[in-house]
Formats: sequence, structure tokens, C-alpha cells
Amino acid sequence: MNQPAFAPPPAANVILRRLQDCGHEAWLVGGCVRDSLLGIPPKDWDICTSATPAEMSGAFAGWKTIPTGLRHGTVTVRLEGQGWEVTSYRVEEGYTDHRRPDAVRFVRELEADLARRDFTVNAMAWHPDRGLRDPFGGAADLRGRVLRCVGEPDRRFEEDALRILRGVRFAARYGLLPHPDTAAAIHRRRDTLRRVAPERCCAELRRLLCAPGESLAPVLTAFWDVLTVLPGLAPLGEMPGYHQQNPHHHLDLQGHTIQAVVSVPPEEGLRFAALLHDAGKPGCRTVDQDGVAHFYGHGKASAQLAEKALRALRCENALRRRVVELVELHDAWVPPTPAAARRWLGRLGEAGLRDLLALQRGDTLAHAPDCRPPRLARLDQWEALVAEAVAQSHCLALKDLTVGGRELMALGYPPGPELGAALAFLLAEVVEGRLENRREALLAAAEERRRGQS
Ligand code: ATP
Ligand code: MG
Repeated sequence: MNQPAFAPPPAANVILRRLQDCGHEAWLVGGCVRDSLLGIPPKDWDICTSATPAEMSGAFAGWKTIPTGLRHGTVTVRLEGQGWEVTSYRVEEGYTDHRRPDAVRFVRELEADLARRDFTVNAMAWHPDRGLRDPFGGAADLRGRVLRCVGEPDRRFEEDALRILRGVRFAARYGLLPHPDTAAAIHRRRDTLRRVAPERCCAELRRLLCAPGESLAPVLTAFWDVLTVLPGLAPLGEMPGYHQQNPHHHLDLQGHTIQAVVSVPPEEGLRFAALLHDAGKPGCRTVDQDGVAHFYGHGKASAQLAEKALRALRCENALRRRVVELVELHDAWVPPTPAAARRWLGRLGEAGLRDLLALQRGDTLAHAPDCRPPRLARLDQWEALVAEAVAQSHCLALKDLTVGGRELMALGYPPGPELGAALAFLLAEVVEGRLENRREALLAAAEERRRGQS
């Protein structure tokens, strides 16, 4: 980190120069400075400036700008087909609702603006000529892998409870260990997260769950209590120390869940599904005469909890439906045959089926080592069968059949349920490999079926 690679895009430099030419200070700030110091390409390059919003309007007169959050001093400058956020130095005052400041005040000193930011690693500024401005020791914390609040942690979390979840997210994303004072305040203040809008919690949670597995697992273990206060996630509270009393499991339910989460690819649907796939287990427990616990029906029970949780988190419908379906099916272990592959491809589509197999693989990797090999072998077989069926572009859905409703009506089928049932019958015959997807063969089978029914 001696010679950090700061490579701001030309447009960012143009904006910095413009503000300076108008007599203002301007710096790159926040996430882009942190990421550059870590050698990670920044997602976006935020700029802060001593110019007030009115002065910014003057500096960018004639430029394409969007008054993104003018009251808070943020203007988006459109340049080179992209938006660049420029924000006046500001301090925030009064957080009576623990969510947002009652007022913001524009100030002239960079330091004051950096002091309102949440963590030291996010409270640095950088300027192409003036270098790094780091009054709170963010660079040293990055080197030491420490997540530390700017100022007094309890007060900072009281001001804005979302910072608690942001802190957990940054720790997981960058492999930072929260400083003991920051960690203690995260635990102590976690309940204040209940006052934060579910959508904001959900957005943070999604990003947290997609962090790299190696750093996500210890953070989830240490800050599980934070997850349990989020909308709909109270059932996770039953997992720590919940022993599964079953030879397939060497970990408690929390350990198993975390292992499954980090064993699926870092994509939000899969990570959410892994987080919730066994949430319904405690409610489904039975114990047989040998003292072994079973959890019959837990896929459905977990799916119901996932449905509730993602609704409470105000997650969008498409993601919710995907997660709920994956959770519900995660324990469906179907023998791998070409016909089964075609049937399930028809049911879930290629992406959906591949997701299900990925979830089952992650779940398996979180089982006791002894029982993994047969399951992993079966998943390998499944993947090969799916690849084969896709390569053959096999008939998988009604639209792929070489006959349609019109042809069947010509045979004398009346429009309505009978026609639908006949098409479904033909599709099933083709998928199962009992009938070829050729027009003459299908028409003959349909004709025979109609005669048989009349
Ligand atoms: P990411 O790569 O996730 O976007 P980021 O650091 O850019 O990380 P943003 O949410 O885009 O995060 O916020 C930009 C900057 O604004 C942060 O680096 C931080 O300095 C400040 N900030 C954002 N949210 C808060 C908050 N709730 N409290 C205090 N400072 C915040
Ligand atoms: Mg950002």
C-alpha cells in the first residue's frame, strides 16, 4: 500500500479541476479512496467540495446536472455518459429518529465533512496534487484490517442505526475485524436497527450476503445476533446451539447454515436461499426410537418462513419467488436420469435448475464429511445430464412441441380443458422419452387418446 494506485477516470479529474478553477476545494472521497488503497477498482468516484449547492450551480452552469439531493448538497454531473456525484462539505445535526439527520449544515472544512462519515476506512479523501487526507487513521486501519467508527461508536450508531449493518457488511466485504469498542457497540445497539426502513436493511443485507466466503463466514458467526433483529429474520435466532442429533450433521444449525451460505456462489438469490434453507427445521423435528432427529417437511416450512422474511424485507417479487422456490426444493433428491433432467428442466428452466443444483451442492458441503461423496457424485451426474439435455435442445415445454392447439382442434378436440390436458399429455410423453417430438407421431398419439376417451 506504499504506492497506492489511484486512477480516477478523466471525467472525475475534469470535475475536480472545474471546481478548483471556480475557486473551490474538491476531493475524491469515501469508497473510492478506500478501494484504491486496497487495490480494488472503485465502483464509483464520489467528489466532495467546499462549494455550497448554490456555488455548485454557478460552477456547473451550462453543464448537464441532476439535482439528486440538493437539500443535502448533492448534485450529479453527467459527463462521458455517466453520472458523478458531487456533494458539498456538510455536517449533520440531530438524529431524533435514529435514521436521518434533522438538518444538514454546509461547512468549509474538509475535516468536518470527513468527521460525519461512518468508519475510518470510509473517512478519507484524496486529491491528485495534494495526496491523501486521512485525519482518523483510515489507511492504518485498512493495513491493520480494523473496522473502527469515526468517533464514539455508541453515539454514531444512535445517530443512524443503519451504520450497524453497514459495519457488518464492510467487515465481511473487506475482511476487517471490528475494533473491540466498535464490535461491542454493534451488539449493544443492534435493536435500534428495527427503526430503519426494511428496504434499506434489505439492500445492505443483500450486499453483506454476497461478500467473499472466507471473510463472510467469521463475520456471520460473530454478528449473527444482528441478523436476527432484521425484518422477518427472527427465526435465525433459534439456530445457534441447535444440535441436529443426526449423523449427517457435524455442525449446529447455525454452523451448517453459514457453511452452506459460503459454499454457494456469491449471488444474492443463492445466498439468501442458503441462509433460509433450513430455517424451518426446529418446527419440524421428530425423534425416532434410536434417538435420531428427523425434520420431515422442513423444505416447505422453511419456504414459508423465507416467504415471510422476504416480504417483511420488502424484497422485490422476482427475487422472493426464486428464493422461496429454491428453499422449498432444496431437499428434493431425485434420481438422476435423462427423463428426470428433461422434466426438471421443463419445470424450472435451465437457470432455475442450475441454481437448485448449486444450492444442493452448497448444502452438501455443509454436511458431515462422510456423507458428502455420494451426494456430490449424484450432483455431478445431474449436471452432466442437464448439460446433455440442453445441448440436444430437447423438447421441454409446450412451446417446443411440434404440434399445437390448432392441430389438435383440427382432429376434433374442443377448445378448453380437454385440449390443454391433451397437450400436457403429449409433452409428458415426449419428455419421458416414450414419444418422438415429430408431428405425425404426436398427431397419431393425440388421435388415439381422443378415441380412447370418447
Ligand atoms: P460502496 O462501495 O459500498 O458504495 P461506499 O463507501 O462508497 O461503499 P456509500 O454508501 O456509497 O458507500 O457511501 C459513500 C460514503 O458516504 C461512505 O464511504 C461514507 O463515507 C459515507 N456514508 C454513507 N452512508 C453513511 C452513513 N449512513 N453514515 C455515515 N457516513 C456514511
Ligand atoms: Mg459508493
